[in-house]
Amino acid sequence: MPFPSYISALWLLALIAVVATLAAISQLHFMIALLEQAAHDALTGAFSRRIGEELLKLQVAHAERTGQPLSAIFVDLDDFKAVNDRFGHEEGDRVIRHAANTIRSLLRQSDALVRWGGEEFLVVMPDTAMDGAMIAVERMRRAGFGKRPDGSLQTASIGIAEQTADRPADWESLVELADQRMYRAKQDGKNRVVTNDSVVDETGIGARPDTGDEPLDSIVA
Ligand code: GH3
Ligand code: MG
Ligand code: MG
Repeated sequence: MPFPSYISALWLLALIAVVATLAAISQLHFMIALLEQAAHDALTGAFSRRIGEELLKLQVAHAERTGQPLSAIFVDLDDFKAVNDRFGHEEGDRVIRHAANTIRSLLRQSDALVRWGGEEFLVVMPDTAMDGAMIAVERMRRAGFGKRPDGSLQTASIGIAEQTADRPADWESLVELADQRMYRAKQDGKNRVVTNDSVVDETGIGARPDTGDEPLDSIVA
């Protein structure tokens, strides 16, 4: 090959190499962005439910093997539908985002916030027994879950389940237990926390009031 053609062939090769590298990098960025999207909920930045389930599966298996505690905290915003109905979906989104930010700001780095459903969150706390989870939840309740568009406080009903105390059969049962307790908190009047044997309302820690119902721990057994 004459020398000038050799130079232009080399130049062309270099150009192809640069274009191929750029294409590979942009494809990698694209794939990372896709993974990010799949892992996180777009509105709140919390983990998506799919990732949350995988995470929980691993954490529960680890807690089982090591005998370490693990708390699952189910948080459901109270009377949220009324925010959408009265002020519109965008205001509703704003309230959800604010609540998620508040919760997340109070968590440890090893804890995970998962958007489980529309206005429902699951907090996964490894190496945390029920008393530690209660302290974290009380901190959340003191900080509040933000304000509704009319200026009133957004509250939440919360259920907590814990691996070593509740001994659920699997990770699904752990979440189900936390969900049942959250539901009991709704039934008891909302804006409160239900653990295995106590209800905490705005007056602070207290035993479940004697309503004649069966004890809490028997409804979750
Ligand atoms: P409760 O106190 O019993 O939990 O009542 P609630 O009104 O909070 O619960 P309900 O399950 O009746 O309503 C939840 C509402 O959340 C209904 C749904 O339209 C709304 N929602 C779910 N996802 C989103 C979202 O991403 N954005 C907004 N703005 N609203 C949402
Ligand atoms: Mg709900
Ligand atoms: Mg709700």
